[in-house]
Amino acid sequence: MGGWSTVKKRRSVKVGNLTMGGEAPPIVQSMNNTLTTDVKATLNQIEALARVGCELTRLAVPDRAAADVLPEIVRNSPLPIVADIHFSADLALRSLEAGVSKLRINPGNIGGPDKLREVAVAAAARRVPIRVGVNAGSLEARIIAEEGGVTAHGLVRSALEAARLLEEVNFRDIVISLKASSPALTIAAYRELADRCDYPLHIGVTEAGFGSTGLIRSAVGIGTLLAEGIGDTLRVSLTDDPLAEVAAAWDILAALDLRRRGPTFVSCPTCGRTQVDLVRTAAEVKNALAHITEPLTIAVMGCAVNGPGEAREADFGLAGGKDFFALFSRGEVLEKVPAERAAARLIEVVNEYVAGKASDA
Ligand code: SF4
Repeated sequence: MGGWSTVKKRRSVKVGNLTMGGEAPPIVQSMNNTLTTDVKATLNQIEALARVGCELTRLAVPDRAAADVLPEIVRNSPLPIVADIHFSADLALRSLEAGVSKLRINPGNIGGPDKLREVAVAAAARRVPIRVGVNAGSLEARIIAEEGGVTAHGLVRSALEAARLLEEVNFRDIVISLKASSPALTIAAYRELADRCDYPLHIGVTEAGFGSTGLIRSAVGIGTLLAEGIGDTLRVSLTDDPLAEVAAAWDILAALDLRRRGPTFVSCPTCGRTQVDLVRTAAEVKNALAHITEPLTIAVMGCAVNGPGEAREADFGLAGGKDFFALFSRGEVLEKVPAERAAARLIEVVNEYVAGKASDA
């Protein structure tokens, strides 16, 4: 993405069958939290991630046992795999041999220039890109001292120094991330980085936390950057099930009209005019249609003030009256439904539409 950055053309890399960077839309990724050596649990989680729209997943490869099971995981995974390696060139080389689609390493802790060169040569031979990841929590003491603290500029310096180690061995299929738990620091750092290099950028707010706090911090940090055209792949880091990270990533992309997957729900906050149980109805509709991948807009509104307008604009919608809802389909009123049956009827109509489209395809 070009966007507000002064670097208008970003490089691209291939990650398995995906293109990251260049003109490609941002890729949704996550990270397994299973023990990599538990192959069955890891593959089950990868399949579940794929079902909710994850396009790329990362596995921790902390030891030889984890590297040894990678070939089986790569062979059976529906998603390209990123191997996350620290401190060991040997594990990086074994991961490459296993067929991973990307490496995430810290060039500064991989064992020195010769080891780094060995990894870069092996990655280049397989056309596997390398992400260099800088984290505010582990920024080099030297840079912290020179910058007078953990600063955006310090994070960018660290990332570019790490990338330079790879450039010095003529490796250019680089992706960069620099993450902080502060959205404000993250935004400032990526803005500077986006202006100072043309590598694809992996964005996220690390250790964002759990519940609504983690979601809001991620949406503010990642959303601001994406709105400025910065970010070629995103990972929402939540203290939660990785599946929740993927749902949040798609919500951020949909909110910015960058990419859509599944329904976008529109519903009102309710007020003194509401004469139906709107909260229950909207929740029932949202939960029952969560499995749909078709990009639809579905409105569930409380009354005649804004309800018919939103319901008509949406693909499908309900607009409340006194103990009933008007059911809208593609801009027209289909029928009036008693309030207690409205959610079930809307769900039925949407499922019929989706099934019809699937059989047409
Ligand atoms: Fe209130 Fe109607 Fe607006 Fe909902 S749509 S908040 S019920 S005025």
